[in-house]
Amino acid sequence: MSVKVKKHIDSHVCICRKCSGTGLAGSTICTHCEGSGRVVVESDIITYVTPYRHGGKNGAVV
Ligand SMILES: [Zn+2]
Repeated sequence: MSVKVKKHIDSHVCICRKCSGTGLAGSTICTHCEGSGRVVVESDIITYVTPYRHGGKNGAVV
């Protein structure tokens, strides 16, 4: 049995990962950030949490 944990991260400015903040994709302007090198990111993250059982089928030996 797993528990579903939902987390919302409000919009915030990040370095564009497509162009690493350069604003360029090769010789053209990066389409993700339109040349600014930064993007606004907003996320909804769903995490499934399952109890760890030592020796269980999903249990790694620690
Ligand atoms: Zn970019």
